[in-house]
Amino acid sequence: MRNFIIFISFCGLLMQEAFASFDDHFENATLRFDFFLSGNKVSQQAIFEKAIRQEGWSGNPNSCIPSFDYGEYCIQVRNEKDDQLLFSKGFSTLFQEWRTTPEASLIQKTSLQTQLLPFPKHAVRIDILERNPQTQQLNLLLRYPFDPHDQFVVKEAPFPASVTLLHGTGETAHAVDLSFVAEGYTIEEKDKFLSDVSRLTDCLFRTSPYNMHKECFNVRAVFSPSLDQGPDIPGSGIWKRSLLGSTFDTFGTDRYLTVPDAWRVWDVLSGVPSDVVYVLTNTDKYGGGGIYNFLSVGISDHAQSESVFLHELGHGFAGLGDEYYESSVSYEEFYSLKVEPWEPNITTLVDFNRKWADMLPAGIQIPTPVEAAYNQTVGLFEGGGYVAKGIFRPYDQCRMRSNKSDFCPVCVRAIEKMIKYYCE
Ligand SMILES: [Zn+2]
Repeated sequence: MRNFIIFISFCGLLMQEAFASFDDHFENATLRFDFFLSGNKVSQQAIFEKAIRQEGWSGNPNSCIPSFDYGEYCIQVRNEKDDQLLFSKGFSTLFQEWRTTPEASLIQKTSLQTQLLPFPKHAVRIDILERNPQTQQLNLLLRYPFDPHDQFVVKEAPFPASVTLLHGTGETAHAVDLSFVAEGYTIEEKDKFLSDVSRLTDCLFRTSPYNMHKECFNVRAVFSPSLDQGPDIPGSGIWKRSLLGSTFDTFGTDRYLTVPDAWRVWDVLSGVPSDVVYVLTNTDKYGGGGIYNFLSVGISDHAQSESVFLHELGHGFAGLGDEYYESSVSYEEFYSLKVEPWEPNITTLVDFNRKWADMLPAGIQIPTPVEAAYNQTVGLFEGGGYVAKGIFRPYDQCRMRSNKSDFCPVCVRAIEKMIKYYCE
C-alpha cells in the first residue's frame, strides 16, 4: 500500500510539473506565425511575415515536445534567456514537394506558410529548421526573436465563419480538434456541406483505429460561402471564384488537389480550435492531397470521397507516407535511398529498427513475396514511396497504397500514437 501511495504521489508530481511548465511559459492563446518559404531545387530560405494572436490553444499542454521526429521541417520555441526548448512541432509543405519537381531546376518560387504555436508569456526565439534530404539532419533556416508585447502582433477579431460542433465535447486540451473547412460551396449549399461533413465523420468513426478512439475527437464544420461552386481545374480551362482557391492539376498531375495559398484557410479558421484541417471541396471529380501538419484537401461527391478522406488524413494527421509506387507523380528522387525516411510506414532499411522491426514475424522472407500466403502478414514488401526498388512497405495492401484496403497494422499503430499525443 505504501509503495502504491508513493507511486501515486510521484505521478501527481510529474503531471503537476508538466502543467506548471506549460503555464510558466505559455498562455491559453495561439500565436499564428506567418512566413514565406522561397527558393528552388538547390536551396530555400524562410522569411518572417507577421504574428497574430488568437484566443485559446487547441494543443495538449502535456505534449509540447513530441517523442517522434516527423516532417520535412520543424518549428521550435526556445526561451530567450537560457535557450531551453519549450515547444517543438514537425511539419511538411507543398513547397518542399514542389522543390522535387523539374520546374524547381528552372525557376525560383515563393509560398505562404502558417504554423500555430502556443502564445509565449515572455521573450522567446522562434526557429524554423529544414531537414536535409541527404542526411536527414535539421538545419536552421530562420531565427526570429519574438516579443509577446510587441505592438505589431495582430489582434483582429476572428473571421465570421459559421462553426458547428458535430462531434465531441468541445474541450480542446486533451482532444484531436479536427476542422472541416468548406471550399467551393455557395451560400445556398451550407446544409449540403454539413451533410457531407457528417457523412465523412461517420466514415471516420467506422474505420479502424479511429472507431476505438471516438471520444478523443472534436469535429467542427467551418462554413463560409464561395461565390462559385467547386475548385479550379486548369487542365480543363475551368477557373472558379472559390473561397480558398483550391486547384486540381497541381504540378501537372490532374488528381492532385491542393490549396496553394494556405493563408486563406487559416484566415477562415481564425479562432477555431484546429489541430488537423481537412479542406472539403465541393466537386464530383476524383482527387485530393494531404501533407503532414500542413493541410489535407479532399472531395465531396465522388464515389471514393470517403476513401480519399481517410488516405489524405493519414498523411496530414499521422504523417504516413504513400505505400504505392505504380502511379505517375511529378517528383524526382522524392526519397534518398541512403537515409531512412521519417515516415513511420516506409523504410529504406537504413535504420529499420526505428520502424516496424518489432512487428516482423520471426524468420519471414525478405523481401516478402507478394503471394496469398503473405497477404495478411506484416513483412517487408518491396515498392513504396513512388519507387518500385529500394523502398519497402509493411503490408502488401494498405489504405496508404490502395483505396480498397484497410489501414495495415503498422499504420494503425502510427495513427494511435498520434491520437495519444493529442489526447493524453
Ligand atoms: Zn500501411
